[in-house]
Amino acid sequence: MDWNFCNKIVDDTFDRIKTEAEKNQVCLRKACGCAILRFEEDGSVTATQAINGPSHPNNECTNEVGNCGCSHAEPRAILKFAELGRNDCPVILLTTYSSCIPCANLVIECGFIDVVAYEIWAPHWARADVILKNVIPVWTREIITPNLLSTQFEK
Ligand SMILES: [Zn+2]
Ligand SMILES: [Zn+2]
Repeated sequence: MDWNFCNKIVDDTFDRIKTEAEKNQVCLRKACGCAILRFEEDGSVTATQAINGPSHPNNECTNEVGNCGCSHAEPRAILKFAELGRNDCPVILLTTYSSCIPCANLVIECGFIDVVAYEIWAPHWARADVILKNVIPVWTREIITPNLLSTQFEK
């Protein structure tokens, strides 16, 4: 695998999901995007992505902290990804914002996510971060480098 190529894909994906979240945001609280990248053996990348917002047919976002009625980006991207079927190739889950505790738990329960990368780390989700870090490496965007990626994925 070409790690420089891999690093560029991660960077480009952050830009793509950020733009998507900012453009199509419905939730009043926070525009958050999530993408899942799987680096296939043949060099291709399988990807799914989602942003947070109301779940159909519910279209209510009350703006209440932690209880606004919206579905988070992570479970949405994970559901799409699960539909594709599994293999053992390395998987990175990227979010534009730190995961909350339920999402952090879901990411761990998946069992197929090797790295979680945030663009913005939020101190109020420090506990979710600890929960994740017990199981999965957590990176913020600026520390994603080809070296770290190749260390992580060497098998
Ligand atoms: Zn909302
Ligand atoms: Zn969440």
